Amino acid sequence: MLSDPIAALATPPGRSALAVVRLSGQRAFEVAAKVIEGFTSRHPRVALLASFHVPGGSTIDRGLYTVFPGPHSYTGEDLVELSCHGGLLVPTRLVSALHAAGARPAAPGEFTRRAVLNGKLDLVQAEAVGDLIDAIAPNQARAALRQLEGGLSRRLAELREALIETEALLSYDIDFPDEDDGPVSPAQIAGRIMDVAGRIERLIATSGSAERLREGALLVLAGRPNVGKSSLFNALLGSDRALVTEVPGTTRDTIEGHTDFLGWPVRLADTAGLWDSPDQIDRLGIEVSRRYLSAADLVLLCVDAGREVGSDERTITQERSSILVRTKSDLALAAGEGLPVSVVTGAGLGELRRAVAERVFADRISLADLEPALTRERHRIALSRARDALTDALACLGPVGEPVLAAHHLRQATSALEELLGVVDVEEVLDRVFGSFCVGK
Ligand code: GDP
Repeated sequence: MLSDPIAALATPPGRSALAVVRLSGQRAFEVAAKVIEGFTSRHPRVALLASFHVPGGSTIDRGLYTVFPGPHSYTGEDLVELSCHGGLLVPTRLVSALHAAGARPAAPGEFTRRAVLNGKLDLVQAEAVGDLIDAIAPNQARAALRQLEGGLSRRLAELREALIETEALLSYDIDFPDEDDGPVSPAQIAGRIMDVAGRIERLIATSGSAERLREGALLVLAGRPNVGKSSLFNALLGSDRALVTEVPGTTRDTIEGHTDFLGWPVRLADTAGLWDSPDQIDRLGIEVSRRYLSAADLVLLCVDAGREVGSDERTITQERSSILVRTKSDLALAAGEGLPVSVVTGAGLGELRRAVAERVFADRISLADLEPALTRERHRIALSRARDALTDALACLGPVGEPVLAAHHLRQATSALEELLGVVDVEEVLDRVFGSFCVGK
């Protein structure tokens, strides 16, 4: 059943001052009345103090509950939020009491899924809920909030509207082919399609940096053993996560750390010895390093400040998007090129962070986040499908055109946008989107 009552802990389990439990569904108030002493739904969106107890049994806690009658709730259904003391026992007992009273444990993402099904959020906004919760950097959170407020959704809805209108004009042409004065000529219809295709193309162009913003840009530290990669890794992360060692090539695994540079999210990877080594284990390390290098959004190629840049190192700077970092600048003056840094004095670290942010998030910075952007592969794939369908539609609109086929392609483009927004109820799409959510969301 879609609207049966569900209940789950909405805050993380473990020791905390407070915990919040959510209950939603058609009979949510009946369930609540069995657990909350003196329960009333007559005061919506007001916190009320009450005792919570096992149905017909002992008291669990005293806390606050807030009633949100549907459709004016997160899920669009009758919803109750109970806030109790935190810790391991109390919230678990409260959730069990709600289950004993007739609610079913919620599946991961089920509250947000219901919000989508009840038209409170579209799919793109639902994804933004997850992104906001997972954000570790301020700019990431800001972008998620914009998406949640509907920036991207509005843009997609406008495109869908424009396509539906064009479809209507085209079907007029199909239904009354002999009328010379159709409402709009095929050339004008083609013009409209090209306009929408251009707007879609501009959205697709945002996907690189916007996906990077959601996932964090992958920065790979590369360079010869002992050049100071692990030390730089630690200094940039601001914690002692990586093993710092003086023995050449002993950092065998690639270590990742997450942080932000000036508010922009980065994933920092310290690769094992990239350079040839007779040791078998190091070979494995080299394999991993190469995979990381090809996946990197930016390579931080580390070369000792006191040494010339070698030809192998030069190759990397030429082949990949990279910044040449001259390490240990406290020991020697950097020979010419590159950005000198020292983890001992801290010199150059701020400049390096700024240079990285400006390189990998250049277009996000210049757009100042005002323009909606595609933050997921799912968005990019759907819009590419829409764009291809529009290209096909245009091809059918020539002088010896086939308007029926053109209309078919227009419909394909519209459905790609609809699937993206979740306008059509596609269970499979919902499963994919909500598969990664946590319980209580
Ligand atoms: P990796 O093999 O490239 O990861 O290099 P490490 O980070 O393990 O550093 C190798 C050695 O260089 C260690 O003894 C570090 O303490 C030292 N080192 C790293 N960065 C600096 C620096 O900026 N200045 C100085 N003086 N020594 C450094």
